[in-house]
Order: sequence, then C-alpha cells, then structure tokens
Amino acid sequence: MILQNLHCHTTFDDGADSPEAMVLAAERAGLRSVGISLHCPIPGEDDWCCPADREPQFLDALRALKEQYAGRIEVFCGLEYDTRAARRSVPPYDYIIGSCHFLGGHAVDNTPAEAEALIAQFSSPDRAAEAYYAQVAALAAMEEISIVGHFDLLTKYDERKSLYDPASPAYRDAAFAAMETLCKAGKIFEINTGAISRGWRTTPYPAPELLRHLRSLGGRICICSDAHAVDGIVCAFDAAEALARESGFAEYQVFDGRDFVPAAF
Ligand SMILES: [Zn+2]
Ligand SMILES: [Zn+2]
Repeated sequence: MILQNLHCHTTFDDGADSPEAMVLAAERAGLRSVGISLHCPIPGEDDWCCPADREPQFLDALRALKEQYAGRIEVFCGLEYDTRAARRSVPPYDYIIGSCHFLGGHAVDNTPAEAEALIAQFSSPDRAAEAYYAQVAALAAMEEISIVGHFDLLTKYDERKSLYDPASPAYRDAAFAAMETLCKAGKIFEINTGAISRGWRTTPYPAPELLRHLRSLGGRICICSDAHAVDGIVCAFDAAEALARESGFAEYQVFDGRDFVPAAF
C-alpha cells in the first residue's frame, strides 16, 4: 500500500476543501503522511493559484496542522511551482514540485479546446511537444525542486492519442531528452492520478513507455493524486502502483521531512 501523497490542493488555490479536510481524508485513507502542495502565486492567475497575500495564511495553517495532527499523521507543507512563476527558494516549504502549466500563452491543462489551440499555435503536435518538454527540462536547473509534476501533462485530455502521437520520433526524442536531463539532476518523477479523479482519464500518467525509459535510466518515482477534493486523496493509487510495477519499479520515494527515501511496494 502507498503510504504518502505529496500532491494535493485546497481552498487556498483551486481545491474544493480545506487543508484540514484533506489531512483528515488522508488519515482516513490510511496514509502515514500527506503533503499539501500550494499552487504558487502568479500575478493575474488568482483563480487557480494562491493569491500572494494569502500565502502567509497558508503557511500559518500548515504549521498549525503539523502540530495538531502530530502522532496521528505527518503533515508536510509543499509548493507546486510553475515555470511561469518567479523563482523562489525552498524555505519555508518542506519540498517543491516543479510543473509546467503554460506554453505559448495557453494553459496546457485548462480545457480540451485550449489544448487544441496550443497545438495550432505551434503548427503541429510534435512542435508543441518539443516546446513543452524543453520547458519541463529547464526545471533540472532549479536545485530547490525535488519532484517533476505530471511530466506528460500534454496528454491529460488525450488518453486516446487523438491530439499527440507519443510514438512519433520527434515526440519521443523530446520527452526522452527532457527525462534524461531531469534524471541527471536527480529529480523524482510523480505518477499522477489527478486526471482520473477529475474524469479526464482512466489511467495515470506518465505513459508506460516513458516510465519504462525512466526505469532504464535508473530514475526515481513517487505516487501522487494531485487531488483537488477529499474524495480524490488516494484516487487510483492501486492503478498507479500497478503501472509502476509493470514498468519495472520495485520501490517509490517517500519524503521523510528531510530527504526522499525509497519504500518498497
Ligand atoms: Zn499541476
Ligand atoms: Zn497540482
């Protein structure tokens, strides 16, 4: 059983439930620890990011929850950094997830229509994928980032592969190159089930072929739900574990408050 989830959202960003409700849901689900990951403030994006003036309140709330639930479930205070945000240092966050939600003026994961508009702007799916993975690869240079969020987020609305062709040489080369750069920098890749709880996919991502490549590189994974409500807190964790095992992984990474350490499935 997976014992930790480090990726979820609350009413401080675009989540539906409070941090305490998410902690209680995680405890009920049998997790030993949970990390609440705040969408970092981005000017003009307050509808889904934490407004900058609310960030101190979030940090206070998490400090209180850590104390309140000590001995029951360990609570970590995380940040989901976006490549469009201002660069920031680690403290006071326990860990940082690095994600790319924007490309060429479009949101990558806002609506299916916008995902199509993004491709149109780059004139082809392969060119869009090359631009996206180049941006994701740039996270390697940011030492403070531990986890790469939803590595192939491009496929959120594309489980049937009608938008992208992940088997095309251009797509695969771009994805593999980014993966290799991030691996060399020691980044951990999450298996993310968030698109399942939100009804867009039936399987977690990254794609199996990407995970197999990651395994061949000696890469590391963690399992995250990217939950935006209490009922998604451990959504499809069994499917994520199965995908990891089928891709050759015997362990996943768990944050212990200081470092990431391996845990066997
Ligand atoms: Zn994200
Ligand atoms: Zn997220």
